[in-house]
Amino acid sequence: MQSQKNIAKIMQALEKRYKFHKKPTVRRTSESENPFKTLISCLLSLRSQDVNTAKTSKALFAVADTPEKIIKLPQKQLEKLIYSSGYYRNKAKTIKHVSKVILEKYKGGVPDKKEELLSIKGIGPKTANIVLCFSYGQIVIPVDSHVHIVSNRLGIVSAKTPEKTELELMKVMPKRYWKEINTLFILFGKDICLSISPLCSKCIFKNICPKIGIKRSR
Ligand code: SF4
Repeated sequence: MQSQKNIAKIMQALEKRYKFHKKPTVRRTSESENPFKTLISCLLSLRSQDVNTAKTSKALFAVADTPEKIIKLPQKQLEKLIYSSGYYRNKAKTIKHVSKVILEKYKGGVPDKKEELLSIKGIGPKTANIVLCFSYGQIVIPVDSHVHIVSNRLGIVSAKTPEKTELELMKVMPKRYWKEINTLFILFGKDICLSISPLCSKCIFKNICPKIGIKRSR
């Protein structure tokens, strides 16, 4: 496992490397928009490329940017608007359901408590934490597949699921990095520590990384 000193070194190096990089769509949305848009962008981003999340978020919000407007959209129109994000039929159903619950149970306001967010079908731990972290400024760690994979390969944690990775990260990651780890590890995971065949020979951490679970690298 990595020492506290190395964890700090890793985070500082990533902060420096990605200082001027364009942030992922969900993060950008959360900085300039409301929690509802952050939540919907996050649902659109599941198993989708960032470019498609940006495209479909923009298309959808141009037509419907509140729970009221989304539940009034005909299903087919909603599916068409979000088609490029993939899994569009399931995502349309989820977006409708989430909007309905937010409107009926929470009077149109996105809840700011994790248990309330998780009680809505379609919202998982990563999506809940993204809303809490980026829209409500709470100190939580949103763990997506990049955060899970990179944290384990680097030996920062040893956990089998993203949920366990979140709990382990909370024990070892200094709090000042909780908000940034999601963005930094996503950028690093898309740039160097690729899910399939990471670019270890070009990696700035190659001398300290135990490369846990790596079978093939470049
Ligand atoms: S050395 Fe390889 S496995 Fe380790 S962080 Fe770098 S790219 Fe990822």
